[in-house]
Amino acid sequence: MTARDQGVIAPPLWLLAELTYRCPLHCAFCYNPVNYTDHSSELTTEQWIGVLREARALGAAQLGFSGGEPLLRDDLEVLVREGRQLGFYTNLITSGIGLTDKRLDALKDAGLDHIQLSFQDSTQELNDFLSSTRTFDLKNRVAKSIKAHGFPMVLNCVLHRYNLPHVDKIIDMALAMGAEYLELANTQYYGWAHANRAQLMPTAGQLREAEAVVERYREKIGHRCKIYFVVPDYFETRPKKCMNGWGSVFLGVAPDGAALPCHTARSLPGLSFPNVKDTSVRDIWYESDAFNRFRGFDWMKEPCRSCEEKTIDAGGCRCQAYLLTGDPANADPVCDKSPHHETVINVVKRAAGAAVQREPEEHPIVFRNDTNSRRLAALKTRGEPDHHNVADLAGARK
Ligand code: SF4
Ligand code: SF4
Repeated sequence: MTARDQGVIAPPLWLLAELTYRCPLHCAFCYNPVNYTDHSSELTTEQWIGVLREARALGAAQLGFSGGEPLLRDDLEVLVREGRQLGFYTNLITSGIGLTDKRLDALKDAGLDHIQLSFQDSTQELNDFLSSTRTFDLKNRVAKSIKAHGFPMVLNCVLHRYNLPHVDKIIDMALAMGAEYLELANTQYYGWAHANRAQLMPTAGQLREAEAVVERYREKIGHRCKIYFVVPDYFETRPKKCMNGWGSVFLGVAPDGAALPCHTARSLPGLSFPNVKDTSVRDIWYESDAFNRFRGFDWMKEPCRSCEEKTIDAGGCRCQAYLLTGDPANADPVCDKSPHHETVINVVKRAAGAAVQREPEEHPIVFRNDTNSRRLAALKTRGEPDHHNVADLAGARK
């Protein structure tokens, strides 16, 4: 009897189609794998259409198009139209670069439901520094065009030590742009953000102040704009229920067709991810080792295995457990019941110290670009965790 026949696995709700790892920006906190240059092939239009049809037939209802920058694909409108006709709720997750009025017209015509536009900050200086591009003015123009075309808009801004003091200005910017939603996403330390953790990690004081600002605005503006404040999990004592549980609701498909239970799962060792080019989406979801590995509770070690809270957080995040403890089956060390919780406390303590006496040149930011990706990929191939080697890339700033 298969897992699906037993009726214990619910179908996916979310399909995230990562159309390409190519991107005109070079964000210091990019969530793409640091070795994205190892996975540069892309599915064809027909292959993506096949994925959408199979996932919808399985029960997926929400469809996100992301990347990299999904607008770099000429067939985005074709895929949006297909997704909409299949009955998906469609969302474009974009930096805005390339979102001309002509493409907005075409996306409207194709039936796109929603747009999420990212900013790096409310100031031109920081927005352009963190993305290593001059894109602030263009993003402002794009935000206006999105609203002029009648799309509901989420403004997304990743928060860290540099821009947490600007949270009030970021909210003002979202209100002025008419965004219906603002996602203030405290940095999650995976991918490029993990490589730049020493630079990006805020202090507890910065976070407390920012959260108080968000609360004040929520009371003041009511329902005008819904503000989400994604928790900074290094500062918590319980982990997040990552992806609402492994293989529970989320199905990601990377540009080359690898199917992923979470978009950073590629960083985990010992897992071979099935590809939509040679395995059906149904078999990937219900039968593959990669999707079944951390489902349920049988894989857990202590203290999670016998913990009464395991149904609440599913033991936290597998990628974080691996990055901080070396074993993806350990409890997420954000949890204060984890024997590795000290690791998280030490990172936060170091950040507080560094905020007082920070020498930026000691930890140069490693911007996301092909050259740095190849260098980090080479370090990974040698089995060296990327965060131990960021200093090797000194001088690689753009
Ligand atoms: S985080 Fe920045 S660099 Fe990464 S895909 Fe998004 S816009 Fe591009
Ligand atoms: S021990 Fe594991 S299951 Fe229990 S609260 Fe911590 S992370 Fe969650």
